[in-house]
Amino acid sequence: MTDEELKQRRYEMVRDDIRARGVTDPGVLTAMERVPREQFVPERERNSAYDNRPLPIGEGQTISQPYVVAVMLELLRLSGNERVLEIGTGSGYQTALLSYLAQEVFSMERLDTLAQRAQRILTTYPNVRLFVGDGWQGCPEHAPFERIIISAAPPSPPQALLEQLGHGGFLVAPIGHQPAQRLVRIRRVGSDYQEEEFGGVSFVPMV
Ligand code: SAH
Repeated sequence: MTDEELKQRRYEMVRDDIRARGVTDPGVLTAMERVPREQFVPERERNSAYDNRPLPIGEGQTISQPYVVAVMLELLRLSGNERVLEIGTGSGYQTALLSYLAQEVFSMERLDTLAQRAQRILTTYPNVRLFVGDGWQGCPEHAPFERIIISAAPPSPPQALLEQLGHGGFLVAPIGHQPAQRLVRIRRVGSDYQEEEFGGVSFVPMV
């Protein structure tokens, strides 16, 4: 497919697989119209970049399904002024979307090869900083974060991340083991953490 055809497919994906399925946040929809997903998938998957499904990105990991990415980004309720911590950079696709939706994005990946590949693609996104490290520890040197998003599923919300969440902030993550993984949003109110659930999802485990 040519760049022009892929662009066409991108608009169709946003219209048919994202907007038509109930995502309304204009910032999220615009960001998805702007970020070329084909840059973040392996070359042989280029023509599948706008299929609404996860795709392999190497190391046994996958780039998440666009619809699920959109739902999670909408749940974050970003206004554009936030500092966001993302755990599980993976391909860097969601990181690129976050860069349009937040002030600053700190993204952490445990696998060096994936982090390096993402780094090369994300050089044109100036408000993104990538770290290789263990997401269970988060990024205490840059905390607190107004928002935290986890792209791999921990059995329960990591304590360090709850502590690094700013007051009034939201953490969005898939929580639990298959087949009982749930999309969860946690809001910090003082020392209190309020949890809401948004249905079943299927993510690689957080290790
Ligand atoms: N949003 C990414 C999803 C990638 S899959 C994308 O769309 O491409 C989840 C990623 O989380 C994988 O790259 C995996 O290596 C990473 N991961 C798993 N456990 C982690 C941990 N403890 N710390 C940091 N990254 C982790």
